Amino acid sequence: MNKNRIIVIGGGAAGMMAAGQAAAQGAEVVLLEKKNRLGSKIAISGKGRCNVTNAGDIADFIRYYPGNGKFLYAALKEFNNQDLINFFASYGVKTKVERGGRVFPETDDAEAIVTALRKFLEETGVKVFLNRKVKELIINEKKEVIGITEAEKNEAWSGRAVIVATGGASYPGTGSTGDGYVMAEKVGHKIIKPLPALVPLRTLEQWPKDLQGLTLKNVEASIWVEGKKQAKEFGELLFTHFGVSGPIILTLSRIASQALNLGQKVEIKINLKPALSREQLDLRLQRDFAKYKNKQFKNALGDLLPKSMIPVIVELSGIEPEKAVNEITRAERQKLGHLLQEMSLTVTNTLGIETAIVTSGGVDVKEINPATMESRLINGLFWAGEVIDIDGITGGYNLQAAFSTGYKAGRAAAKYIKQFLEK
Ligand SMILES: Cc1cc2nc3c(=O)[nH]c(=O)nc-3n(C[C@H](O)[C@H](O)[C@H](O)COP(=O)(O)OP(=O)(O)OC[C@H]3O[C@@H](n4cnc5c(N)ncnc54)[C@H](O)[C@@H]3O)c2cc1C
Repeated sequence: MNKNRIIVIGGGAAGMMAAGQAAAQGAEVVLLEKKNRLGSKIAISGKGRCNVTNAGDIADFIRYYPGNGKFLYAALKEFNNQDLINFFASYGVKTKVERGGRVFPETDDAEAIVTALRKFLEETGVKVFLNRKVKELIINEKKEVIGITEAEKNEAWSGRAVIVATGGASYPGTGSTGDGYVMAEKVGHKIIKPLPALVPLRTLEQWPKDLQGLTLKNVEASIWVEGKKQAKEFGELLFTHFGVSGPIILTLSRIASQALNLGQKVEIKINLKPALSREQLDLRLQRDFAKYKNKQFKNALGDLLPKSMIPVIVELSGIEPEKAVNEITRAERQKLGHLLQEMSLTVTNTLGIETAIVTSGGVDVKEINPATMESRLINGLFWAGEVIDIDGITGGYNLQAAFSTGYKAGRAAAKYIKQFLEK
């Protein structure tokens, strides 16, 4: 048994990349994965198509990781989106670019990504052990990592460097159940509270239920915390039986999660007509009302709104549904305009972390060297992927972060153990 080997915990995107990179540098590497297969989360990512990265300018990436984006600067620089695309191409996976720069395998098959990574591990000689759940890290008195213990048999594995790539706490069926946070805390690392991000929102109001299944395109949603506007997003929104979802809500959900955790009041305001100023919308309403002047109010909104929204808007407007359009007052019309641009929802909660696409929070970046992913507290201990307090918006950013941090951790760990090999 080689005591100078590297142990990688977790066979997801970050762990596989880290293990292969370390082995490619000549290190002996074992990868321990608790599930009976590698890459479970990759396989379900992007609705089974795997949005593996984004084709946008890498210099812009940092801002798509709200919170600690800057921490990723060195990792993204060393192994960027084009490097990742080339990497997969070298294993036979051609990619294509879709709306918003999203990069997918040409075959629309996430398994192609897992297969490529598996080939990489085989080629570089990584020894993969499945069904091995790691319990804790073993640290010596010099604050060096010297191995791990497995959960089942309490068996110890020695290694001079350990890379923890256990993922976050969302979609626990894929194996990421927050184990890395426990390991981190036990050796003195600070954990920023894991919270769901990229997650749908529950609302107090019941009317979204009446619209469940309706997707609105080209709308704007803004998020308000304690009455102050925090952010806005333009795009697609989906109504559900419990509240709201869809890409723009998922992006805003991180702010909701954190504010709710602090007990703050959170609202979402939907602007159904973001392209129009309030005056332009009022003129538009005047035109529609002139056109339908002899109709009842409830029958006058067909040019403006999807059919299923009309009863909801009529109800929320407070205007009598049967009122003749030519009897609607200016004040009523203006109130309607306000409603169309500020449909307010009180957010009571997010859906649970188990349904979140990504976990915000994790190992505090202040305790990790961004140039190597090595712990600042324990020598030879490296972190990679979602276990770190890093999360991105949708669009391929989370996988790119996992691969880039994995790349850096793998290479840095291989360099680190050289000192022991040379002795
Ligand atoms: C439904 C869904 C869709 C997504 N789609 C996309 C997308 O299209 N594009 C994108 O960029 N991001 C997407 N994401 C996010 C992205 O998949 C993750 O951020 C990324 O996979 C994290 O990689 P990771 O290697 O850090 O962790 P994970 O992929 O979670 O891997 C962690 C691994 O560690 C193993 N493990 C955990 N604990 C232990 C232990 N104690 N011992 C041994 N092994 C352990 C787990 O079994 C798992 O295999 C999606 C997420 C979800 C849930």
